Amino acid sequence: AKKLVEVKNLQKHFEVGKGKILKAVNDISFDVYEGETLGLVGESGCGKSTTGRTIIRLYRATSGEVIYDGENVHTLKGKKIKKFNRKMQMIFQDPYASLNPRMTVEDIIAEGMDIHDIYQGKERRKRVHHLLETVGLSKEHATRFPHEFSGGQRQRIGIARALALDPEFIIADEPISALDVSIQAQVVNLMKDLQKERGLTYLFIAHDLSMVKHISDRIGVMYLGGMMELADSEDLYEEPLHPYTQALLSSIPIPDPDVEETRERTILIGDVPSPIDPPSGCPFRTRCPEAIDVCAKRKPEWLEARPNHFVACHLYEQ
Ligand code: SF4
Ligand code: MG
Repeated sequence: AKKLVEVKNLQKHFEVGKGKILKAVNDISFDVYEGETLGLVGESGCGKSTTGRTIIRLYRATSGEVIYDGENVHTLKGKKIKKFNRKMQMIFQDPYASLNPRMTVEDIIAEGMDIHDIYQGKERRKRVHHLLETVGLSKEHATRFPHEFSGGQRQRIGIARALALDPEFIIADEPISALDVSIQAQVVNLMKDLQKERGLTYLFIAHDLSMVKHISDRIGVMYLGGMMELADSEDLYEEPLHPYTQALLSSIPIPDPDVEETRERTILIGDVPSPIDPPSGCPFRTRCPEAIDVCAKRKPEWLEARPNHFVACHLYEQ
C-alpha cells in the first residue's frame, strides 16, 4: 500500500517555565498507509494527542518532518495549506466540549464548508442532511442544539462535521473514551463502515489496547513521548516484544471465563516519570521488569526486529 503519511524523527517540545522543556513527543518515526487504521495507544501524557495535533498542524513541530502525500506539511504555503486542511480532519475525545453549545447542528457540521466557501444555501442544507443520515442521525436533527443529544449522538455529529469536506485522513483522538461502553462499539462500527465506503485512512488514538483492537490494522504503543513498539495488530497481541506492551496486554482481562489464563501477568509498579525530567537511556527503564545495565546508559534504537514489527528495546539489539 501507498504511504499516505510519513512521520520522520518528529519532536514536539513545549517550554514550561524557566528553562524547563517538556518533551511531549521525543523523536518518533512511523508511516500511515492509505486506507488503513493505525491505532496509537498509551497512558495519558505519553504524547499521543500531541503527535496527532502536530501531524494535523495544530502544533508546529519542534523538529523532524511530517510528509503527507509527498509534501512536508509544516512548510506548506498559500493555496496548498487550504487544500491540505480539507484532506485531513480531526475527531475529538469529548463530544460535549468540542461542539459549540450555541450553534445549531447544521451550523456546526457546515462550519468547514463555510470557512472554505463551498456549498451555500439549499446545497449546504442538503449536504448537512445527507451527512446526518450518513452518520445514523436524521435531517430533523439539523435545527437542534448539542445539549439535546446523548454522548453517542454528539460524537456522531462530530464525525459528520469531520466528513463535511470529504477528507482522506482522519485523526480520531480518543473518540470513544468519553462514551458509555455500550455505545463505544456503535461508534467504532460506524467509523469502520465509513472507512469502507469512503476509503478513509485513520489514526485512531486511545489510552488502552482493548479499545483499538477491533478497528486497527496496525498499532503503535507510546510511552513518555517515545514510540516503544509498532506492529500488525495480530502480531502485537500475539507476540508483543516490548516489556511495556506486554504489561499493557496482561492488564486486559480475558473476557471468556472458560479460557484458561496462560499469560504471565506483569503488574507495572511506580508512576510514569515526568516528561520534563525523563530517565536517561530507555524511557521505560524505571518501571521495566527486564531492565539491564545498558538500559540506563543508552536509548534503544528503533529497529525492525521481525518483518514489519518495530520495537525500541535493548533486548532485541544485537
Ligand atoms: Fe526494559 Fe531495557 Fe527494553 Fe527499556 S530497553 S524496555 S528498560 S529491557
Ligand atoms: Mg490525549
